[in-house]
Amino acid sequence: MLNDTHQASLRSWVDSANDADCEFPIQNLPYGAFRKKGSCDNHQIGVAIGEQILPVASLLGLTDLSAIAREAAAACDSPTLNRLMALGPSHWSVLRQALSQGLRQGSPHQALLAPSLVPTTEAEFAVPAQIGDFTDMYTSLDHALNVGRLFRPDNPLMPNFKWLPCGYHARVSSIGVSGQRFLRPKGQVMPAGESAPIVTATRRLDYELELAIWIGTGNPLGEPIGLDQASQHVFGLGLLNDWSARDIQAWEYQPLGPLLSKNFATTVSPWVVTMEALKPFLSAWHRESADPQPVPYLESTLNRERGAIDIGLEAWLHTAAMAGEGKPPHRLSKTNFRHNYWTIAQMVAHHTINGCNLCVGDLIGSGTQSGPGPGESGALIELTQGGKRPVTLPGGEERTFLADGDTVILRARAERAGFRSIGFGDCAGTVLPARG
Ligand code: MN
Repeated sequence: MLNDTHQASLRSWVDSANDADCEFPIQNLPYGAFRKKGSCDNHQIGVAIGEQILPVASLLGLTDLSAIAREAAAACDSPTLNRLMALGPSHWSVLRQALSQGLRQGSPHQALLAPSLVPTTEAEFAVPAQIGDFTDMYTSLDHALNVGRLFRPDNPLMPNFKWLPCGYHARVSSIGVSGQRFLRPKGQVMPAGESAPIVTATRRLDYELELAIWIGTGNPLGEPIGLDQASQHVFGLGLLNDWSARDIQAWEYQPLGPLLSKNFATTVSPWVVTMEALKPFLSAWHRESADPQPVPYLESTLNRERGAIDIGLEAWLHTAAMAGEGKPPHRLSKTNFRHNYWTIAQMVAHHTINGCNLCVGDLIGSGTQSGPGPGESGALIELTQGGKRPVTLPGGEERTFLADGDTVILRARAERAGFRSIGFGDCAGTVLPARG
């Protein structure tokens, strides 16, 4: 399952990739769509290595590249990942091997590749794929319990939660890449004790700490993806902030789910960490014996043995005042994706059990990730208990929900003894004042 690209001892001739705390060592090799900052160039696909980006199509200059690697590298001469995604997992794996060979210390290709490197500080990014459809899930038990207790104290968990990975169709047009700045949304809010709603800028703007699940290859309409085939359809993972207006959500969400409380902005990280890079961090998935056991299409030995992934997740807040005073961001939450009630394979299998066709470049949000302990909640509504207990920041500021000028930064890192740890890069977004 693992190969030489995962070896902890591998080092790159790009020096910054060998720093112990580097997010992008040669074992990672995540893909993103980038161009030179401030240019009018088309975006192209690059791979992050240390503090540099290698345009993947620069591999085409190597004379000893295999036909499959050449086809995969040529597919990266494109503003989105869709062409590479469509080639499928054997091409993805061959391309990873070629990049690893080309970038490792002692590679005969260093002289040819080095002039193509672009420092990350001189690059700007786009959403990495052309997304056809976006589904956001609701699959963390701790999140569902924490939020359910606030919205429905007598009935926090819906009866379907432990039987299927819940989700809803979300909005593509307002998805932006890290660095996204968006206006505080307005909408209908029902004040407590009133009989008619008011129209207002949201007073309860929140973030949601989620993973972005990028679908590589899809399935024909009418042909479900089996649980044990599901991971082969996933190209990789990034970070996703599902910004949420809780007051708008509370009034609109029944009976058909969230709409305007979510569809004004969603931010994704620029880098997509491939499923192959994450293989060392796969772990056993467990379902408590007192809970309902999965129905057959959501149950398999493979899913039990390595359906979960050990990925540390964090959300940080940088207020305008903190930024103005040169102070660093403050960490609001820290959790791990291994706590999730459903695996990624179960989400994909469930999404297609009715024959729904996933397509190249589709995006699935994992749902807000919360763990069982205090400080492990992936949204302010949980951390502040519905706005009742403000969070105090190091400079003395308080927050129940987000203020104008706030920047939320999501981060992730996969670690396991005996392996090089890999990071995801920042997923940052900033709240601007509502339109007047
Ligand atoms: Mn969400």
